[in-house]
Amino acid sequence: MTINTPIYQGSLSYEVPLARHTSWRVGGVAEKLYKPNDIEDLQYYLQSLPSDEAVTILGLGSNVLIRDGGIRGSVIYMRGCLNKIEMIDASTIYVEAGVNTARIAKLATEKGLAGGEFFAGIPGTMGGALTMNAGAFGGETWGLVDKVIMLNKQGELIERKASEFTVGYRSVSVNADEYFVACYLKIPANIEGDSSQKIKDLLAKRALTQPTNMPSAGSVFKNPKGDYAARLIEAAGLKGYQIGAAQVSEKHANFIVNTGKAKADDIEQLINYVQQQVLQKHNIQLETEVRILGEQGEVA
Ligand SMILES: Cc1cc2nc3c(=O)[nH]c(=O)nc-3n(C[C@H](O)[C@H](O)[C@H](O)COP(=O)(O)OP(=O)(O)OC[C@H]3O[C@@H](n4cnc5c(N)ncnc54)[C@H](O)[C@@H]3O)c2cc1C
Repeated sequence: MTINTPIYQGSLSYEVPLARHTSWRVGGVAEKLYKPNDIEDLQYYLQSLPSDEAVTILGLGSNVLIRDGGIRGSVIYMRGCLNKIEMIDASTIYVEAGVNTARIAKLATEKGLAGGEFFAGIPGTMGGALTMNAGAFGGETWGLVDKVIMLNKQGELIERKASEFTVGYRSVSVNADEYFVACYLKIPANIEGDSSQKIKDLLAKRALTQPTNMPSAGSVFKNPKGDYAARLIEAAGLKGYQIGAAQVSEKHANFIVNTGKAKADDIEQLINYVQQQVLQKHNIQLETEVRILGEQGEVA
């Protein structure tokens, strides 16, 4: 008897430039880029890979610096692929990893729930938000998570409760080679206040204080305990400082913007320079919030 292994049916491409898939608009190529049709299809794809092949997950690419030499192995592109979002009961939302998180804010508001408004201004996917514990204006992703569905590198599904994770400021303990494919969020009913007005106010506040019209990855550094990275960088005289076409934003010192044709290497050098200067002037070691991925080198 022959048992047929199911064949994946998503889209597999080779040598795909990643700059167009990152908010900084920089980065080299993915050796392989896979866009799964759904969770099951992603299982088949993972099961087909040699065990030593590197796997990297990419959401909206709004918190990553992909180096100019690109990424070896398979990059799994989640955005818009694992795209289901639905109400399970009056306060539970099922969200797949490729869903744009702004959709959560919208759905929760429509359903009369409160607490998901902060998602409105955070560009990214559910998978990225889970990985980074994305948050803003007092709200945090993991404050709403009930349980998650993960896939491991062997393509096996695993359900984990939120209590199985150690969650901190922009950090979550995730086992190596496990990836988020979906989650269940619990968002309480709105008993007071107007969520749509709150969303409008939060977006207006961002537009006022952040360079939202230029390619960036949001805050580059985590805020050290009791202080703000932006304050330390500004006090070190670095606002507007530029390496190549990468610049410390004039509007918000914790943002690095691509003023035109920056390379990933310009941005990485500027990150290192800012860290060095802040250490020298304030004796504080800034830690990056953005994830640096891939190989150094020239853009192919
Ligand atoms: C203008 C601007 C404003 C921003 N403001 C905020 C803010 O207020 N608060 C905030 O927290 N962040 C902010 N960010 C950063 C960013 O939007 C968030 O971190 C967002 O959650 C990242 O989601 P993403 O889908 O883009 O993740 P990506 O950048 O694609 O990935 C981030 C990391 O998560 C991993 N990853 C992604 N999906 C998965 C998955 N399914 N399973 C396992 N690993 C995965 C990636 O490998 C990578 O290491 C801002 C960014 C920009 C550009």
